[in-house]
Amino acid sequence: MSVVTRFAPSPTGELHLGSAYSARVAWQRAREAGGRFLVRIEDTDIRRCRREYETAMLEDLRWLGLDWDGEVRRQSDHFADYGRVLDELDGRGLIYPCFCTRADIAREIAAASSAPHGAPHGPDGPLYPGTCRHLSNEERQRRVADGVEFCMRLDAARAAEQAGPYAFVDETQGRIEGQPLLMGDFVIARKDTPTSYHLAVTVDDHLQGVTLVTRGEDLLPSTHVHGLLQKLLGYAAPQYAHHRLLTDPTGRRFAKRDKDLTIRALREAGKTPQEVFALIDAFPVSA
Ligand code: GLU
Repeated sequence: MSVVTRFAPSPTGELHLGSAYSARVAWQRAREAGGRFLVRIEDTDIRRCRREYETAMLEDLRWLGLDWDGEVRRQSDHFADYGRVLDELDGRGLIYPCFCTRADIAREIAAASSAPHGAPHGPDGPLYPGTCRHLSNEERQRRVADGVEFCMRLDAARAAEQAGPYAFVDETQGRIEGQPLLMGDFVIARKDTPTSYHLAVTVDDHLQGVTLVTRGEDLLPSTHVHGLLQKLLGYAAPQYAHHRLLTDPTGRRFAKRDKDLTIRALREAGKTPQEVFALIDAFPVSA
């Protein structure tokens, strides 16, 4: 089977050294295998993503020589694909509307924290307490009719039951048993867009025939829920290579706030692509 990798940036800032490193990992793995390297723009967070950043990122990738195969897929052009999958999950009773505001959730969590077992935690902090999972259909319809904003959440326990056990393979860590409840009832469609990162990534990796997902190790917890969705939807699971994150000498990972270490800034300072890669190779990776 031919190798298909992808680099999937969110256009919320300029390409920085950390993301260029990640792009090169995906590019290199495809090129050394004679496979395909895809670029996908993950712009589902419409408030934070900007078209100017997308254009600049693609231009920087081209300048770095990280040429991609085929068309760039922009997620905001494909809401209908995610909508079809949401409908399927809905038909199987696996998702529900959640009307909670951040403040409602914080209040519930604070109340649960004083209970004997406390509020359950996931990798990003306390999990959604499940408040809206218990609403009746009538109550849901009433709130929708009243115009109360809502997102959609996956009923993780029910999904786990339907999916059964699953596992995924990370190149470094080997076979990892899927933990379907790791992120609780996570958001599967946001209030402002009819999808979420987890849904769009899973659907796109499947539709684009991605066989090897290379991405930062900070996203390893997400792989547990992507595996759950793949199992539920009957998708083949790609192989994973979670890589270390590039950090500055103090151990802090690069982020879009590091304005002087964007590829754009380095280009403007007169660096060549080779010098930028040499700089990347000189930085440490997370322990
Ligand atoms: N869009 C994600 C990010 O910019 C990457 C998602 C992925 O590689 O799965 O962090």
